[in-house]
Amino acid sequence: MVIQSKVFAAGRPFLSTIDWPSTVCCVVFFVGCNFRCRFCFNAPILEFDDKYLCNITKVTTELTKQSYLVEGVIVTGGEPTLQPEPLTTIAEWARENSLLFGLMTNGTNSRILRKFLRLQLLDFVALDIKTVPLIEEYVKITQNKRTSLVQIKETVALLKKSSIQYEFRTTLVPQLVYKPEEIRQISDWVGADHFILQIFRPSETVLDPALRQVSFSEEELSLIREVGKQLGIRIR
Ligand code: SF4
Repeated sequence: MVIQSKVFAAGRPFLSTIDWPSTVCCVVFFVGCNFRCRFCFNAPILEFDDKYLCNITKVTTELTKQSYLVEGVIVTGGEPTLQPEPLTTIAEWARENSLLFGLMTNGTNSRILRKFLRLQLLDFVALDIKTVPLIEEYVKITQNKRTSLVQIKETVALLKKSSIQYEFRTTLVPQLVYKPEEIRQISDWVGADHFILQIFRPSETVLDPALRQVSFSEEELSLIREVGKQLGIRIR
């Protein structure tokens, strides 16, 4: 395959045993995102900054070096579907090298997802569900008034109909998304079987400075655990 395209990508791909359940994979970070989630811990890579622009062969060369150690490649970000051509190149590269291919996405590009499913380029998708399926609640978190809940709902529906491995992941954040009723509403939407709750961890790279030092109390955590248990939702 002749690879010529450019990509906005951050750092070197690295080996992970936690990003894709039961699969040792290389993680590739695509730069740029259409959301500005207040709790995002990848704040430094949300803008398409030219300093991240490189030839995609730089990424595939690194992947080649690590390919004998892993079963798959997963692309995260940022929002990887904003760069469909390099995303396709890496997916095809994975196929040609007998590796599985996975994607982490915010779900705003159901068209790309449909195409990748049709071409059988995907083995795993982790879809971030930011909050309950109400546009005003979504916008409070994504800080993007043009957030398309229609696209996100379509992405959820596509995954539920698909035969690939997938997860819906919601990060519970103090003061933002944490109430039992919110967890129930999301679970009613996406179903409990493939739904994972993640607990926010404060860090200096979190986008909203007001969230850099907040964390759940023990009381709040035990309530979350209780709701998770009642609804059959895993907590990570
Ligand atoms: S959390 Fe994900 S979707 Fe939200 S701004 Fe960060 S990279 Fe984008």
